[in-house]
Amino acid sequence: MSKKKPAPATPAVRAKKKRASAKPAAPVRAATTSEWAHVWQSPIHGRGIRATRDIPSGTRIMEYEGERITKAESERRDAARAAREAEGGDGCVYIFEINKRHDLDGHMEWNTARLINHSCEPNCQSEKVRGHIWISARRDIAAGEELSFDYGFDVENWRQHPCRCGSPKCVGYIVAKSHRWRLRKRLAKLRRAKPVK
Ligand SMILES: [Zn+2]
Repeated sequence: MSKKKPAPATPAVRAKKKRASAKPAAPVRAATTSEWAHVWQSPIHGRGIRATRDIPSGTRIMEYEGERITKAESERRDAARAAREAEGGDGCVYIFEINKRHDLDGHMEWNTARLINHSCEPNCQSEKVRGHIWISARRDIAAGEELSFDYGFDVENWRQHPCRCGSPKCVGYIVAKSHRWRLRKRLAKLRRAKPVK
């Protein structure tokens, strides 16, 4: 979010705004729902998603919906996100790869699946199904359990994404399983670097 003050509404600015509003408005969509889960206040982080009934392993629980964008647009949005993050703003990532040419940006209010938290020991996974992303159960999930999946972040900006998943396997930061050994190594190095008193 920009912290700039809005410019005074001079005729030039008003004209600009008018042109902008002449564009077709983004379609307002109803939020994604699922017969298996609903939104709740999560002990991990903010709002999360919880199973409303027992979910068998392999069930496609909720589609991760969003806007289909080109790789170029995806890179532009990621750069804008990194700039926001550098200023202490929202650095959340909601972009999924669909194929070599397109990504999916799920940063929309109506994409309920964006609320699913990360866990170092997740009970769900994201699945690509014919150009769509689904969140599905990677094991049997009991009614009342919070849903989670591995966000798959690399180690680059690990400090910005602390993890509070509470799993015994938690490394303390949101980093993809395949990169966690790198983070453990870095953390061990940092601990050794601290002077012992
Ligand atoms: Zn964790």
